[in-house]
Parts: sequence; C-alpha cells; structure tokens
Amino acid sequence: MDERPGSTARPARRRARELEFGGAWRYAPAPEGTEHVAIAERYGLFVGGGFVAPRSRRWLPTSDPATGRQLAEVAWAGERDVDRAVRAAAAAFPAWRRHSGDDRGRFLFRIARLLLERAREFAVLETLDNGKPIRETRDIDVPLAAQHFFHHAGWADKLDLVFPGARPEPLGVVGQVIPWNFPLLMAAWKVAPALAAGNTVVLKPAETSPLTALRLCELFQQAGLPPGVVNVVTGDGATGRALVRHPGLAKVAFTGSTEVGKEIQRAVAGRGTALTLELGGKGAHIVCEDAALDQAVEGVVRGIFMNQGHVCCAGSRLLVQESVHKVFVAKLLARIERIRVGDPLDKNTDMGAIHSAAQLARIRELCAAGRAGGATMHQSRCALPGRGYWWAPTVFTGVASSHRIAREEIFGPVLAVLTFRTPEEAVAKANNTSYGLSAGVWTDKGARILWFAERLEAGVVWNNTFNRFDPAAPFGGYKESGFGREGGRQGLAAYLRFPNGLAPG
Ligand code: NAP
Ligand code: MG
Repeated sequence: MDERPGSTARPARRRARELEFGGAWRYAPAPEGTEHVAIAERYGLFVGGGFVAPRSRRWLPTSDPATGRQLAEVAWAGERDVDRAVRAAAAAFPAWRRHSGDDRGRFLFRIARLLLERAREFAVLETLDNGKPIRETRDIDVPLAAQHFFHHAGWADKLDLVFPGARPEPLGVVGQVIPWNFPLLMAAWKVAPALAAGNTVVLKPAETSPLTALRLCELFQQAGLPPGVVNVVTGDGATGRALVRHPGLAKVAFTGSTEVGKEIQRAVAGRGTALTLELGGKGAHIVCEDAALDQAVEGVVRGIFMNQGHVCCAGSRLLVQESVHKVFVAKLLARIERIRVGDPLDKNTDMGAIHSAAQLARIRELCAAGRAGGATMHQSRCALPGRGYWWAPTVFTGVASSHRIAREEIFGPVLAVLTFRTPEEAVAKANNTSYGLSAGVWTDKGARILWFAERLEAGVVWNNTFNRFDPAAPFGGYKESGFGREGGRQGLAAYLRFPNGLAPG
C-alpha cells in the first residue's frame, strides 16, 4: 500500500472506491510486518454487482471486540433491500446456470487465487472484526476459505460425473444466513458450493462480523463474477428473518443457533423451499486410558480453546477414563496456564477476545451456574486486558451429566470434565445430549476407534485429533444440531435437484 495511517493523500482510484462505498477509508492497525488494512467508514449493500446505499437508510456499527473500538458502519437491509437483492439474484440466474461448468469453475478458481493473494489483508480484517487471534485467521480461516473455493471450482465441471445418470440441475436463488464465529469461512462454505452447482446467492452475514464478507465482494468484482450472482445483505436478525421468508428463494441454508434454526424451519414449512440447517453442538471428547496423554492434552486444548471456544463443533465435554483422570486433569490444568490470552493481532497470542458483550454475559452466566451446581471451576491465572471482552481458559471438574454446563452449549472457552469406566459408559454419556454435531476419541487402538465411531451419534468423529476441517469431508449434524451436510459430494448435492428422481448415491 502506498499510504501510511493518517495520510491525507488520496489517489483517484481510492477516491472512486470511497464514492462507491459512500465513505472515507481509514487505516486499521496491523501486526508488525504486515500491511495496514483499509476500512471504509461505511459499507453499502452488495447488490447486482455493486455497493448500493440501503433503501432503509439505516446503518449499524461493527466493532473490534478486543478494544470496543468501532471499525465501520454497515448498511442495514430491510425487507425492500432484501427483495431488491433476491430480484438481482433471480435476474442473474438464467445466464449463470447456462455458463458451462468449466466457466463457473474458472470464476471460482479466480476468487480462490485472489483470496490467497490478499490473505494477509483478510486475516487482519477478520481478526479486527471478530476478535480471534491472527495466528488462527492466518493459518486456518483464510487458507481454509480459499481451499473451499478451490475444491468447489474443481467440482463445477464434473457434476455429471459425480452424480452419474442423475442429471443434476441447480435449484435457483439460494438464501444463506451465517453466524459470527467464522465469518469468512462460513461465507466460503456457503457461496462456493452454491455457485459450483449453478445457483445464485443472497448471503446475510452476522451483524457483528460483516467486514470480511463485504471484502469478499471486492474479490467477486475483481474476478469479474457476473453482477447479481452473489449479493450480500448486511443487517441483523430482522434482515435474516426477511431473507428466509422471501418467496423467491429455492433454498435456505442456515448456520447458527438451534433456536433460530427451529424458527426458520417453521417459516419455510410447506413452501417447497429446500432447507439445510447447521446448528449448535455439545461435542464429546473422549480420552481412553491407552491414549498418548500428552498429545491428547494438546488435542483437548485445540478442541475447546480454539477460536475462544466459539466453535459449534467444539469438544466442550471432556470424557476421561477414570484410571487416568487424575493425571490427565493435572496435565491439562498445567497446560492452560501456558495459553497466551490477549491482543489478537499479536502473532504469539493463542486466545483472543470474546466476540461480544452478549456472548461474554452468557459465558459468565453458565460458569456461575456450574459453580452453583457444585462443580469446581479452574481458571488460568493469565492477566486479561483492561478493555474489550475477555474470559480466561476455564475447566470445570466434578461435573455431572445433569449440570447445565454439561448439557447447554456455552460457546466459550469453558470445558466440562466428566469421567467414564468402560467404553460402553463413554458412548452412553457422549450420546446423552440433544445435540449431535461432533465427537473425538483418543486411543492407541485402531479397532477401538472404529468401535466408537460406529456408536457415537455425531456428524463428525475425529480420531487422535480435533477441529480439523477439509472441504472433501461432509460436515453436519444429527438431532438438534441440524440436518444436511456441507462439504463433500453430500454438500454439493444439497445445492442440486435431480429431476429424474435418482437419489445421489
Ligand atoms: P444466531 O443468533 O442463530 O445467528 C445466526 C445468524 O442468523 C446471524 O446472521 C443472525 O443475524 C441470523 N438471525 C438471527 N435471528 C434470525 C431469524 N429469526 N431469522 C433468520 N436469521 C436470523 O446464532 P449466533 O449467536 O450468531 O451464533 C452462535 C450459534 O451458532 C451457536 O449456537 C453455534 O453452535 C451455532 N453455529 C453452528 C455452526 C454449525 O456449523 N453447525 C457453525 C457456527 C455456529 P445477527 O447475527 O445479525 O443477529
Ligand atoms: Mg465486529
């Protein structure tokens, strides 16, 4: 970048961009050795290939959870704005579906490459808007998001090969609603398969983390994606509600809380709208006595403290075999003291800021309930910054399956430890939940891994690792964790119809 913070020089091209967004660019701080990231004062809605002012004339702030500082104002899309976006997507659909798969793949490849070229910018922006550490946005969120575009670019011209004889067709306009915990990655998970399959999209990011989805729109422009193929409507829950109720949608894809998922299911019922729901979880992380305990400790730490525990598939219930419980908990408690909590832009930071005041309040409430219920709370003694939202790594021992902290999703850096004697008891306890998104097993025995994987009611079962993602592996839930899969052939099938009735085998 040619300008430093505070500079008043504005080249013509930048000026043009300002006008397009309706605001002046400012510069956000970045970690040493990385570029400063430009953030506009205001962002319009991305409709029909350009940024437009909202007809609602309303704007919402988005801020940095680590400091509380406002980063930008973002348009609030009301019903008329949502309608405008759905119409733009509908107008773009006939031409987009007629593109050859090869062509659609080319656009997706271009987006993936551009995302990697601008990886640092996206990592810094995501860290600022979300609060998660730069190490994660740099090493996990951004590369994985690019991988999703690459992966689906490769599918776009092979749909007939993947679903032989099934004559796959796109669905039409897809409405997609995503949460704040992986803003860029969730946008990629939603947009990439939808476009590969030939659909057009209206995406609704979360109110508190819209900036990387909006930056992705710049890549769509840069990649020459035809106007209207992807539209992004920012706003709050009311925007999401307006989108999922729009009669012009052929499909709704939602990732978020179980409560909102249930509401959406009721809203689309009887309309013939396809629906996939990726909802909450209370993942069981099982450590058997024969496991490599030190490695298991690292896995458990990754399972619950990655992304401050704001992970739907987090391993938030640890089940340790009784014979190793004492030694394992001692190792774990020593380990959490070494988790570095603080400035998310510092590349040595392991755990960043809690995403919002509301999320912090929920974590606080559930931890208080855990203590009131008789469980013992252990917290890292790390120093927490004075402003912004923070919670130290927390482990509860003496937890019973009936405790709220063992049943409810906390969505924070809080682990509930339970014990088991036999593998049968571990399975019974692991499945004793209304959710079914993820589980993990640590053991040295291959046969035991398979035995567990067959019995655990979870969409993903990790073995001797946790929280690893790959676009080729279908991801999704059982029970109140939702239905439908993202990733893999199953994820692709969820964006297609098969007019000859052949189910994709
Ligand atoms: P949320 O309140 O359900 O919000 C998710 C998205 O839905 C946001 O964009 C939200 O907008 C929007 N929304 C809110 N009310 C709506 C309504 N009535 N109709 C349509 N859209 C509506 O969940 P969250 O608090 O953002 O995220 C945390 C939850 O998501 C956790 O329970 C977590 O487990 C789950 N999650 C699941 C997965 C998965 O893959 N299974 C992944 C990530 C998160 P606003 O944010 O603007 O209000
Ligand atoms: Mg924010």
